[in-house]
Amino acid sequence: MIGGRVRFRDQEVPFFPDSDDEDTFYALVVAGVDLTANRDYEITALALRENGDSVTINGTARVVLGGFIRQDVTIPADRAYLIDPIVERTELARLNSLFEQYTAEQLWDEDGFMLPVQAETTSPFGAFRVFNETTESRHTGWDFRTATGTPIRAMGAGRVVFAGLLDIRGNHVVIDHGYGIFSGYSHFSQTHVTRGQAVRSGQIIGVSGNTGRSSGPHLHWEIAVNGEWVDSLDFLRMWIPPAAPSEDDDAVVGT
Ligand SMILES: [Zn+2]
Repeated sequence: MIGGRVRFRDQEVPFFPDSDDEDTFYALVVAGVDLTANRDYEITALALRENGDSVTINGTARVVLGGFIRQDVTIPADRAYLIDPIVERTELARLNSLFEQYTAEQLWDEDGFMLPVQAETTSPFGAFRVFNETTESRHTGWDFRTATGTPIRAMGAGRVVFAGLLDIRGNHVVIDHGYGIFSGYSHFSQTHVTRGQAVRSGQIIGVSGNTGRSSGPHLHWEIAVNGEWVDSLDFLRMWIPPAAPSEDDDAVVGT
C-alpha cells in the first residue's frame, strides 16, 4: 500500500504514513458530538497499491454514547451579551473557515502531542451548558484552572493560523498541525505568536487569562479534526497507536 483515502459521512481524507513505519498508514475521521449514538455508520477505505491497483474496503463504525454532563455556567452581567447564540454562530463560522483550509502534510513532529498545561480540569468536553439559566451550548474543549499569567504551550508542532481577539474565546490561538488537525487555546491575557508563524511542540504561545466569555481565569483547550470537535484529552490518549492490530474488525469510536 502506498496511500489512499477514507470516507466517513461527509468527511473524505487521505491516509498518511506512520513516521516510524512506512508500511503503516493512518487516517482520522470523526464522529461529531451530535451524531445519534448506539448505531453503526458506514466507513469506506480506498487503498492504493504500488502497481497502481486500488482496493476498496467497506466496514462499519459503531458510535457509542458519550456520557456528556450538564453544567450551569454564570457569566458576569457585563459580559452577558456574549451568550447570544448569534455571537456563538458567528464565531464558529469564523473558526470553520480556518478548519476548511486542509493541509495534506504532517506538520507535527516526532514529539507528537502533549498537554498545553499541567493543571486541574474544571469542565469536560461535550458538556451541555446552560449559561445564566437561559442559553444552551455545547462545550467544544476542556477547561483547566490556570492563574492569570500561566505559560501555555503548543500541544504539537504546527503553524499558527489565527492569533487574535474573538468574542467568546477572547485572546485565542489556533494551530494547524496538518491532516485536518487543529488545536485552539482561549482566554489568554497575552499571546506570544502571530499568524503564519511555525511553532515547535511545547513552545510557549501565550499566558492564560480571563478574556472573552469566561467566568474566571482558565485555559480552554479544544481540538477540531476535519472540522469536527473532538475530546482533546481522548485525542492525546488515542495518539499512542496500539502495539498490535485489533482482532475486532469494527472500529469503535466515541461521540
Ligand atoms: Zn471551555
